[in-house]
Amino acid sequence: MTPQPNPQVGAAVKAADRKHVFHSWSAQELIDPLAVAGAEGSYFWDYEGNRYLDFTSGLVYTNIGYQHPKVVAAIQEQAATMTTFAPAFAVESRSEAARLIAERTPGDLDKIFFTNAGADAVEHALRMARLHTGRPKVLAAYRSYHGGTQQAINVTGDPRRWASDTGSAGVVRFWAPFLYRSRFFAETEEQECARALEHLETTIQFEGPATIAAIILETVPGTAGIMLPPAGYLAGVRELCDKYGIVMVLDEVMAGFGRTGEWFAADLYDVTPDLLTFAKGVNSGYVPLGGVAISGAIAETFAKRPYPGGLTYSGHPLACAAAVATINVMEEEGIVANAARLGTEVVEPGLRELAERHPSVGEVRGVGMFWALELVRDRETREPFVPYAAAGEANAPMAAFAGAAKANGLWPFVNMNRTHVVPALNITEAELKEGLAALDAALSVADEHV
Ligand code: PMP
Repeated sequence: MTPQPNPQVGAAVKAADRKHVFHSWSAQELIDPLAVAGAEGSYFWDYEGNRYLDFTSGLVYTNIGYQHPKVVAAIQEQAATMTTFAPAFAVESRSEAARLIAERTPGDLDKIFFTNAGADAVEHALRMARLHTGRPKVLAAYRSYHGGTQQAINVTGDPRRWASDTGSAGVVRFWAPFLYRSRFFAETEEQECARALEHLETTIQFEGPATIAAIILETVPGTAGIMLPPAGYLAGVRELCDKYGIVMVLDEVMAGFGRTGEWFAADLYDVTPDLLTFAKGVNSGYVPLGGVAISGAIAETFAKRPYPGGLTYSGHPLACAAAVATINVMEEEGIVANAARLGTEVVEPGLRELAERHPSVGEVRGVGMFWALELVRDRETREPFVPYAAAGEANAPMAAFAGAAKANGLWPFVNMNRTHVVPALNITEAELKEGLAALDAALSVADEHV
C-alpha cells in the first residue's frame, strides 16, 4: 500500500512549501511541516517511507478515512457531469445532500443552508438568530472553538481568540459545565449541572433577556477538551432558551456526523436546537462543505422576507456529491454504529487501562470515537501538564509526548495539556489496538515529567 520512498520529491515539496505557503495559526519560521506523500484509510505516509496511523482524522474530519473509493468515484462522476453550478439553481447533488442531511438532523431542522466550512456556518447561524429575534447579543461558552472568521473567533473561548478579539461584537461569555475543572465548586455531576444552569440563567437576567438573540455552544465541546455535558444540562439550556425567547444554536461541526456514535451529538441528549451547524464529517472533508440546519420557525422568518446572506459556492455540486456519497457509505457500512461499538468495547477500556498505569493521565473522558486524555503533573492537585496556552519551552513536555507517539508510528492530536483520540469512525479494532500500544509508549515519556 505504501509506495516507494522518494526523499528527493519530498525535499522539493517541502522547499516550495517553506518558500510560499503561509500556514494557519503559526509563526512561519518556527514550523517544520511534514511533507505527506499519500493517505489511505486510517494511515498516511511521508516521502521518506514513514507510515503513520492517524489518530486525528486530519483536523477531526476524515470520518470515513482517506480515499474511500466510493466517495472518490462519486466526486469523479460529478466532476465529469457538472463540476459546478451557481447556488440560485436547483441541482441534483445539492438537493439530494440537503434531503439526506435534513432526514438525519434532529426534530424539525429540515432546511439546509450550505456554507464552505464550519466558521461561516457559525457566522450565518448567528446572523439568522439576530434577524429572527431582532436582538443584538450572543452568549457563548468559555472552553469552546467556533472557527477562525471574525464573528466565529469572537464567540470562540480558546486563546486563539485573544489576538483578534474586537471585544465589541455583542458577545457575552459564560461557563459551561466541566466537573474535572469545575468553575462552580461542585463535587458531583448533578451539582455541576444545576450550578451551571443557575449561572447561565443569572447571566441572561443580568444581561437583559430581551437583548439576547442566541446561546451558542458545542453539543460536546471538541477542541477545548471533549467535555461531555452532564445529563440534563442541554435540556436545561433548551428550557432557558424557550423561557426567554432565545435561539439555541448547537455547533456540531466537530461532534456531528457520527463522531459520538450517533448521527448528531444532540441525539445523545435528546435535545433539538433551533439551529445546528455542521461541516467536516458531512463529506469527510473530501471537498470543503459546511452548513446550518434550520428549524421550521426560523425558516418561516425568511419565507416571505429575503435572507440577507449568501456565498458564491453555497451548496457546491462537487462538495454536495461528496456528501451524498459519504452519507450513503456511512449507512451501507454501518460506520456510525462501528464508532459507537468500538468506542465502548475497545477505546474506553484501552484508555482506562493506560490511565491506571500512567500517572501523567489525570482524566479519561469521551464517547464513540471522541476521546480525550487530560495530562497532569499531579493527579491530586490536577495541575495541568503544561500551563494554559503554553508555548515554546513551556510546552516542551507535550512536544516530547507527541514526538514519542510519532516515533512509534502514531500521529496524535495534541492541544494544550491534552491528547485526543479522534480516529476515523471506520477504523478497525486491530488499528485501534496498534494506536493504543503507541500511546502507551508515548505516555511513558510523558510520565517522566510527572
Ligand atoms: N466549530 C467547531 C465546533 C469546530 O470544531 C470547528 C473547527 N475545528 C469550527 C467550528 C470551524 O470550522 P472550519 O475550520 O471548517 O471553519
